[in-house]
Amino acid sequence: MKSGKTSIFRKNLIWVALAIVVATIVFVAVAINISDRLLIESSSQVLLKTANLAAVTLKNQSNASESSLSGFVQEVTGATTYRVTIIDSSGKVLAESEATAESMSNHLDRPEVKAALEAKPGVAVRKSATTGKRTLYVAILVPGLEPQNDTSGPLVLRLAMSLPFGAGSLKRSQALVVYLIVFIALLSVLVSFILNRQLATPLAELKKKAEHYAKSSGKDRLPALELPEELEPLDATLDAMVEQIHKRAYENENLSRVYSSILDAAGEGIIAVDSSLRIIETNPAFCEFFAVGREEIIGKSLIELTDAGALPEIFSRCLSEKTEVFSQMSIFRNGERRLKVHASPLSQVFQAAEKPGAVAVLSDITELSRLEKIRTDFVANVSHELRTPIQVIQGYTELMQDDTLTPDITKKYLAIVKHNSKRMEQIVNDLLMLSRIENNPSLWLTVEPCSAARIVESAIISVQPRAEKKNITVDTKAEADFTFVANSGLVEQALVNLLDNALQYSPANSQIEIRYAQQDGFVSFSVQDHGPGIPAADQDHIFERFYRVDKSRNRTTGGTGLGLAIVKHIATAHEGSVQVESYVQEGSVFTIRLPVAGPHNALEQKVSKTDRNNPEHAVGPNL
Ligand code: ADP
Repeated sequence: MKSGKTSIFRKNLIWVALAIVVATIVFVAVAINISDRLLIESSSQVLLKTANLAAVTLKNQSNASESSLSGFVQEVTGATTYRVTIIDSSGKVLAESEATAESMSNHLDRPEVKAALEAKPGVAVRKSATTGKRTLYVAILVPGLEPQNDTSGPLVLRLAMSLPFGAGSLKRSQALVVYLIVFIALLSVLVSFILNRQLATPLAELKKKAEHYAKSSGKDRLPALELPEELEPLDATLDAMVEQIHKRAYENENLSRVYSSILDAAGEGIIAVDSSLRIIETNPAFCEFFAVGREEIIGKSLIELTDAGALPEIFSRCLSEKTEVFSQMSIFRNGERRLKVHASPLSQVFQAAEKPGAVAVLSDITELSRLEKIRTDFVANVSHELRTPIQVIQGYTELMQDDTLTPDITKKYLAIVKHNSKRMEQIVNDLLMLSRIENNPSLWLTVEPCSAARIVESAIISVQPRAEKKNITVDTKAEADFTFVANSGLVEQALVNLLDNALQYSPANSQIEIRYAQQDGFVSFSVQDHGPGIPAADQDHIFERFYRVDKSRNRTTGGTGLGLAIVKHIATAHEGSVQVESYVQEGSVFTIRLPVAGPHNALEQKVSKTDRNNPEHAVGPNL
């Protein structure tokens, strides 16, 4: 039992004992009172009857001298044991059985005497001045007996008897009463103790069971207890309660497991804060965005988070306006990452709490933004590239509507229209080829064992007329021929593109060299020219679609700006690469590197020879 706390059983014990003691005292007092009254009533009847009887004898007395009256009172006392007093109408005591008449005071003031003198039977109870005892007095008038020596009228005969429950008698039985009360109190304590024990034992059993449940978190269930009928529902309720709590705990545990799995699996960064921007919860994706550990930031203010960027401001707006906020922000980890942020006030669960907060979902849209930019740039570039030939064709067809044109001029105009439509066709074909190579090349790329020498030879034949026009010699340098696995048509196309550029940008009467070799599981084809070279700043961009070093000059030379993009995609489709080494005023070397064994997922099948200007034929039968 804990100190300072009062035991309910000890309290019960005291109260029950007190109640029984008080009840006993009251009972004894009432019992004494009632029996006293009954005794007085019955005794006064007897005394009255005796007084009346004595009065008859007294009346028959020949004289009423003091000596004869004294003899009479002694006679009656002897016969009845009552105290007998004879008083005259003036209150003077004429005879008294317990004392001498002379020693007695005037009795006119005694209530029983007063009543008797009024011819009524007088009854009174009081402590006697003569005997000092609690006494019952009964007095009657004895008519017709005239006192001889005195003047007053009739005599009053008074009988008296001591009562047992007077002050003295109570005093005598006081010890007995005290013993009785102590006995009853002890008995009641004993009974109360037994009763308490009967209640305490099953309650202790219940307490033990409840403690067991508390220790085992309700997992280890106990059988129903053997309890008194009244306490059985308590045991059943305890079991039902534990069952409920256990069920709830199980459900909550499952729910929180599901929640944390969702949080862990979510690709989006998730963060929840309270109203003072203190971080309540985050998920791995969020921690990855901001390069922090979950434990390190939980409970901290969002403002303390390095590179939190616009996040605190977004949350503040969401909390103050109590609405959803959609925004975007940048973080800088290994370059810029663009994040889309959707913040919303927390649901009711948290709103019920003292400090409602907000939750935000952060999606990485870096790649999406990049693709979107590529898409818009691409559309703008294609439109730009096609606009010039379309405008030329439109202009010349309008001019040709003039009937006055000579056949020679018409022929010249038609040649210009044809040239521009060819250029448009070339742009469209190049775009088609690019899109086909880009769209999952492994689905359509068919490969075969190819001879490096044959591919180079074939590419040179394709560009030979143009080389001759500019008097440029194309030399080949190789130690020996070798075989590698590739789509020969596409590799030849890549080489033709590189040779086309070399021829286009090299001065007349110069030299172009093609080298091919095999090393460390890779084959390499290099095309070297002695043209103007490419500035270092442009070298990173020349493989992008429509990129030109000298925008104005290159368009007039007939390039589409897609040649190198196609080369790069062909190399990538073969799981290879393309590189450039170039110095302004010295020339450029473009090198394609491809794996000897070919790309992993390619289909091994013979394909027809590629024709750059007819991409329908440039791909295998799976197209
Ligand atoms: P284009 O059809 O315009 O040649 P490419 O994609 O083949 O487009 O080339 C992109 C740009 O790279 C060209 O416009 C040119 O400025 C530059 N370039 C490509 N090859 C060479 C080269 N051999 N010498 C100098 N510049 C080159």
